[in-house]
Amino acid sequence: MRIWLDGGLRDLESAHVSVFDHGLTVGDGVFETVKAVDGRPFALTRHLDRLTRSARGLGLPDPDHAEVREACAAVLEANPMPLGRLRITYTGGHGPLGSDRGEHGPTLVVAVGATTRRPDTTAVITVPWTRNERGALTGLKTTSYAENVVALARAHEHGASEALFGNTVGQLCEGTGSNVFVVLGGEIHTPPVASGCLPGITRALAVEWTGAKETDLPLDALSRADEIFLTSTLRDVQAVHRVDDRELPGAPGPVTAKAMRIFDERAGEDLDP
Ligand code: PLP
Repeated sequence: MRIWLDGGLRDLESAHVSVFDHGLTVGDGVFETVKAVDGRPFALTRHLDRLTRSARGLGLPDPDHAEVREACAAVLEANPMPLGRLRITYTGGHGPLGSDRGEHGPTLVVAVGATTRRPDTTAVITVPWTRNERGALTGLKTTSYAENVVALARAHEHGASEALFGNTVGQLCEGTGSNVFVVLGGEIHTPPVASGCLPGITRALAVEWTGAKETDLPLDALSRADEIFLTSTLRDVQAVHRVDDRELPGAPGPVTAKAMRIFDERAGEDLDP
């Protein structure tokens, strides 16, 4: 496998990052996961804009979009695959053993791995831990993902592929790597960004394309919803057939199935040439 590190393509075995890189020592970094279909990245401009917003949120210098685009193209060309997940990682770079940043400047890594289309439906659990809707990192896609790792492991223990968080005021928020939508009385609702969720790119497209409303939702919306679905770069729109002990027979229901169809039809529009 060939990856991009600090200005050029390298073999994975010879691509080395400092053991004092702050992405490793203090989780000081931001990232994007971008879907690539037949070597073409999906919605790359939106991902680059969010990468910049996340970097600014951490006080990192703006990433060079031209370099990241070049890196994505080079990595995709060097590693052909029908469905890939590009991973763009941008960290605070080599620094002292503490939280202060060094003089070295950021590290940029772009890699790609093969992936497969996700099943149409999945099971989810809720977890008792909360997202902080008012934290310094709220809404930023940082590499500090350990909380998601823990929640996802719990989901797997329960035969589920995703764990959903509420926020500190008891509202529904998001999953470890996805946004959540509920269908109530025929209308589609998703928590607003103020709930503390990541402003997902698939979420934004789903809101645009389905007319879903951004609504503060109590956690028990999950027990009342007629249908529930998740959105993310790698799931697209995925119906939920079980949430904790509640089965949703017939998932995907009609509203979710329509959202999936719209997404399948329109997703090609936003592929970079
Ligand atoms: N929420 C979190 C915490 C995520 O990590 C992700 C994606 O990884 C999402 C939501 C979905 O965002 P997107 O649709 O941009 O993949």
